[in-house]
Amino acid sequence: MPVSKTILSQLLDQISDLVWIISADDMEIVYINDAAAKVFEIAACGESNNELSKPDASWLKQLEENDRAILESNLAHIYSTGSFEQTLSFHCSAQRVLSLRTVFTLDEDCDGPQDCKLITAIAEDATDSLQTQRRLGESQAVYQSLVESLPISVFRKDAQGSFRFGNQRFCDALGITLEQLIGKTDHDLFPESLAKKYVSDDLEVLATGKTFQGIEEHMTPDGKQSYNEVLKAPVMDADGKPIGVQGIFWDVTDRQNAQKALREAKEMAESASQAKSDFLANVSHEIRTPMNGVIGMSNLLLEMVSDRQQREYVQMIAQSGESLLTLINDILDFSKIESGKIELERIPMSVREALGDAVNLLKFRAQAKHVDLICKVESGFPDRVIGDPTRLKQIIINLVSNAIKFTEEGEIRVDVKLEKLTSDSVQLNISVTDTGVGIPPDKLDVIFREFEQADTSVTREHGGTGLGLAISAELVELFGGKLEVKSVVGEGSCFSFQADFELAEDTRRFADADGRAIDITQKRVLIVSSNELQTKRLEKWLTDLNMRNSQSTGVELAIKKIKGYAVAGVPFDLVVAESDLNDGSAEELAKRVSKIDEVASTKFLILSQASHGEARTPEALLDAALKTDCQWQTIPAPLDANKIRLGMLTVLSDARVATTNRRPSKPPTHITNVEEDCRELKILLAEDNLINQKLAIALLEKEGHHVTVAADGQQAVDFFKKSKGQFDVVLMDVQMPVMDGFAATKTIREIEQLSDKSTPIIALTAHAGTQDRDRCLAAGMDEYLCKPIRAKDLRGMIENLTGQSSRTSAPAVTQETSGSAVDWQRAFETVGGDQSLLKNLIGVFLKEQSSMRGEIEKAIATDDNTHLRLSAHSLKGASSHLGAHEISRIARELELIGEQKRAESKITSPLMEDLKDAIDEVS
Ligand code: ADP
Repeated sequence: MPVSKTILSQLLDQISDLVWIISADDMEIVYINDAAAKVFEIAACGESNNELSKPDASWLKQLEENDRAILESNLAHIYSTGSFEQTLSFHCSAQRVLSLRTVFTLDEDCDGPQDCKLITAIAEDATDSLQTQRRLGESQAVYQSLVESLPISVFRKDAQGSFRFGNQRFCDALGITLEQLIGKTDHDLFPESLAKKYVSDDLEVLATGKTFQGIEEHMTPDGKQSYNEVLKAPVMDADGKPIGVQGIFWDVTDRQNAQKALREAKEMAESASQAKSDFLANVSHEIRTPMNGVIGMSNLLLEMVSDRQQREYVQMIAQSGESLLTLINDILDFSKIESGKIELERIPMSVREALGDAVNLLKFRAQAKHVDLICKVESGFPDRVIGDPTRLKQIIINLVSNAIKFTEEGEIRVDVKLEKLTSDSVQLNISVTDTGVGIPPDKLDVIFREFEQADTSVTREHGGTGLGLAISAELVELFGGKLEVKSVVGEGSCFSFQADFELAEDTRRFADADGRAIDITQKRVLIVSSNELQTKRLEKWLTDLNMRNSQSTGVELAIKKIKGYAVAGVPFDLVVAESDLNDGSAEELAKRVSKIDEVASTKFLILSQASHGEARTPEALLDAALKTDCQWQTIPAPLDANKIRLGMLTVLSDARVATTNRRPSKPPTHITNVEEDCRELKILLAEDNLINQKLAIALLEKEGHHVTVAADGQQAVDFFKKSKGQFDVVLMDVQMPVMDGFAATKTIREIEQLSDKSTPIIALTAHAGTQDRDRCLAAGMDEYLCKPIRAKDLRGMIENLTGQSSRTSAPAVTQETSGSAVDWQRAFETVGGDQSLLKNLIGVFLKEQSSMRGEIEKAIATDDNTHLRLSAHSLKGASSHLGAHEISRIARELELIGEQKRAESKITSPLMEDLKDAIDEVS
């Protein structure tokens, strides 16, 4: 049964393709389905709704002109072709252009003349797919042009390593066409070793799925080294499976060569800088060695020469030597900073002591300019910390000396304030403020740079190298802070910085039961001394510390006061007593007080005075301390404010332990009286330099020690072996012929393995670095002395290591005011800078000196050598405190005469004459 026209027409209306039928002669539509009618906007109204009652040729006008012409030509040939396909661009009313992929078919079955035949058109709307195709084409073109125009080579390979693509650059580099490339592998194109590497890189990319990046080295055909930077990435399929590798690479030969040149230049610069540092270190070492002779010998000479003018000259030599040494140290520091080699030591230290030392050193300079120098350290933080006291002093000395240099009147203040205190660290803010010339705002930054000074004019008043602040700023950074400055021209400057310190373990010494730092202010102290001068000094020191004090001159009076104050409800927290009192001893006082119930817990600080009373061994002192029930602490002479403060802190924090003595076999230092603990030491000196030998021998023999000299390390070892452990100390120069100090120390330590004795070895070296010190300690030495060796340091170190002190009680010579009968610096140091107290002391001294002189005269007149020795000793002690060197020197000579039992008037008379002159000069 034939399908009705209506059914067919309805079916055609259901499909999305456009269907229309045109008459072959005029291309007018005679039939159209719904989809086409909608696009062509033709209303069909035939019987079946799709046959047009009036044929319509309007659709032709909506065709792209070019398409229409082609269509007409195609249709003209349809009688021979039967059908054809053409994509028509059709303009709809909605301003859209549709791409209709259309198949035209001639209806062959239709009877009638040729021009009455019908043609069926079936079109698919290909607008979207064509657009997508076009875009794809465009993007491919962009990609292609990018790949071809980039100054890099691009390639792609499949998973088997066959090339699938290479851009022109890549092909050119290989000298082949793209067609020749496709299908080739690395093995076909490159030398074996390169091909292997490329393949292994590809396999890694395929296996890991990760991008590979690296530099590949080639040899160009003309034998030059060339470098490529390569990036390889996996090519993934739709499922994310790697199906190949694509890569890019570009020439980095110039960059690599530049980097290589830079590296070489840097290495050269570094080695030049190293050479400079080594040179500076060596030069400074070379200069230090003769400086040792200059400074040391002039210091020795100072003690021998009595002629004023000669002394002045010698002092000038010594001072110039010291200045030169400072300069060498600055240059060495600076070179270390430049090469980043500067390091801080980490040793237990006292902040207050370090500051005190630094400020005391400069007090006299400030005094000479009539500028007040004040140092205020806030209380409330533990004093014992871990740090580098030398470097801290160096910063303070530099800032304070600058302040003195640039201040003509007013004051200089060193303030230390607590910034932060934790259980294991303390942060301090340290500032140095002056009322000097100030620094212009535009110079505030530059002064921290090396060799920069605010005043660069040739007429500038003040000398200097411009290195001090640069070094200090670096050092401050090592302390964890930043050196800053505020200044107003004409008003003054303030340099400040913060410094971090770890608390020393023995800080516990100065903590109460809850671990809080001991606050000694407002504590009540009884001073017991029969010496008016001493009482005055103690009073002043205690008042400075904000402590309340009362005085007593002897044992009986002290007991009365201690009891009376306790009964009145204001007991003494501490008794500071001189060991020898006019009616007994401090020990006796302590023992008696410990037996009185109400005051039995009174704490004592006992001040030893070596010049009076009998000498006792450290063991005897330890024994006495342990037998006494009360808590006490002895302080060895000579006294100073800091020693007293530390002693008080120790006693008040109720700790008896703490010792700085490194030798466990020796009794703790706090019950060691330096003056009483003296004996001649046997010292082995290993030193090859003749001048240094002489200097060291002179220094040590002056201290009463016996010195054996070894001219090299081997001799030192031989002497040590022969001595069978008889030496108390070895002074070991590090650089010596035959065997150096390190090797000699090692051998000595090996010899010692056979016995249980370990002899202290002190390294003597001209190298001043931390590393040098560490090297000496690592080699088995106990301590390290940097040349030039100063008597004070050597003495201190020997005392520390042996627990023994020197026999001599002559004060160490310090710098004097040239031409002055009194060393004002020393005198000011003694009284902590208090002018009125000094005046007072001089008054007392002048009053007492005539009776002391009378005693000496009496002793000479009666040939009483013992009396001469004792009375001269008293005069020597009193005058040296005041820095009256000349008097002290003459008194020392008289004391020696007494000691040697030569008290004859022909020897003593000239000295007595000199003494009279010297005293007249002071008065
Ligand atoms: P030096 O003092 O050896 O020249 P420094 O680095 O210590 O080198 O100081 C650099 C410069 O900073 C000084 O020359 C001076 O111009 C300036 N300066 C430093 N401290 C002060 C100060 N307290 N008052 C005024 N100017 C100062």
